[in-house]
Amino acid sequence: MTAPFDDKLHEECGVFGVFGHDDAPALTALGLHALQHRGQEAAGIVAFDGAQFTSERHVGLVGDIFGNDGHTAKLKGRNSIGHVRYSTTGGSIVRNVQPMFADLAGGGLAIAHNGNLTNARLLRHDLVAEGAIFQSTSDTETIIHLAARSHYELIVEKLIDALKRVEGAYSLVALTSKKLIGVRDPYGVRPLVLGKLDDAYILSSETCALDIIGADFVRDIAPGEMVVITHEGIETLRPFQAKPKRFCIFEYIYFARPDSMVEGKNVYEVRKQIGAELARESPAAADMVIPIPDSGVPAALGFSTASGIPFELGIIRNHYIGRTFIEPSDRIRHLGVKLKHNANREKLKGKRIILVDDSIVRGTTSKKIVEMVRDAGAAEVHFRIASPPTTHSCFYGVDTPNKEDLLAHKLSLEGMRDFIEADSLAFVSMDGLYRAMGEAKRLSGAPQFCDACFSGDYPVEPTDAREFRRQLSFLAEAV
Ligand code: SF4
Repeated sequence: MTAPFDDKLHEECGVFGVFGHDDAPALTALGLHALQHRGQEAAGIVAFDGAQFTSERHVGLVGDIFGNDGHTAKLKGRNSIGHVRYSTTGGSIVRNVQPMFADLAGGGLAIAHNGNLTNARLLRHDLVAEGAIFQSTSDTETIIHLAARSHYELIVEKLIDALKRVEGAYSLVALTSKKLIGVRDPYGVRPLVLGKLDDAYILSSETCALDIIGADFVRDIAPGEMVVITHEGIETLRPFQAKPKRFCIFEYIYFARPDSMVEGKNVYEVRKQIGAELARESPAAADMVIPIPDSGVPAALGFSTASGIPFELGIIRNHYIGRTFIEPSDRIRHLGVKLKHNANREKLKGKRIILVDDSIVRGTTSKKIVEMVRDAGAAEVHFRIASPPTTHSCFYGVDTPNKEDLLAHKLSLEGMRDFIEADSLAFVSMDGLYRAMGEAKRLSGAPQFCDACFSGDYPVEPTDAREFRRQLSFLAEAV
């Protein structure tokens, strides 16, 4: 479900795991709270107390589910994993909420998954034909079914066997009666980090969740790496065929929290640098630089510093917009973007402004914001975007509209400017983006990152999407 006042791409999930701590479920709840930006639709925790697994999975925000007097007290054990979810697949029904759990031949297995499998639909089709009964519409359940059917004896082997059959992006944490497992797909599209809190091991999508519980960052889990954590310590496995690393570049632009260290880089600093590149590439004569809060703030600061044009908070964001307003009734729908953003009139009156945002998806919110600042008296509105134009959909765990609905896919730069009714519009170039990150786009001729939503250069073929298209054209021919 995409909020009607929110024209952003959305990360679909965050994962967290604790092994060997008396407060494992409470720490997991705190970790999920820090990862809330990665999914606001539902959250769940599975814990193991040495004898049995307990599970709490609910629709809603982490604080509402696991806060005071919430469900945390019902979870027992020194080991646990958790998940926050934002997903369109299957809606917000509780049976899709993760972690998913099943009793396999070798014992219980809980999995929390960040990413998206690009061949899950085909695999599911085959599994159902063989008699598998799916409880959810989530592609994560496919991994569990594959593991359940594996002929290997040990659960770790079953999981590896299952993951060798899936394609796409996955950073997942899994819990058995004896082990916490963390694994990243061979391309390393989604992040996963290892931390330590006293003697306990922590796995997390981002380092900001380590900070909240006072854990030390140890290292990133490498692409294609599986870590198996037991009471004996941590073991590293490399069970998959090595692939060139293709980390999601959008994690730096928008998804990750600015205080996180992602693959050795501080996200906030990268965003500031992108803003500075944008100022050098596409300057504008203006009186002030104004971010679209919150995501545009670091890039606007970078733009302001590089251009010497003052930074001002000309738009104020309401952080407390609740679900009632996110799913608005017809009575308040006309208020639109103002429920979330409001112009600071006194600042804007008669001024030439540069608005900075991280991206444009459909362009609907950008258009309304330009209209709002003009209504507030801005004399000129120059829009600057801290990412290249988003022209392609993501198949790796990000909620994106169809390509046909992306503004940059439909229109030229001038067409987009005309649509949002800005005086000028510019995006950071792909070269500028890589310069800001201090990275080469290619190393020894091979791409280093996934930037497919800007370039269409997909690291993993979207098998399901291709099959879907093939079936559609077959149907069209048959009609
Ligand atoms: Fe990230 Fe875009 Fe690649 Fe998806 S397509 S993984 S959002 S860079």
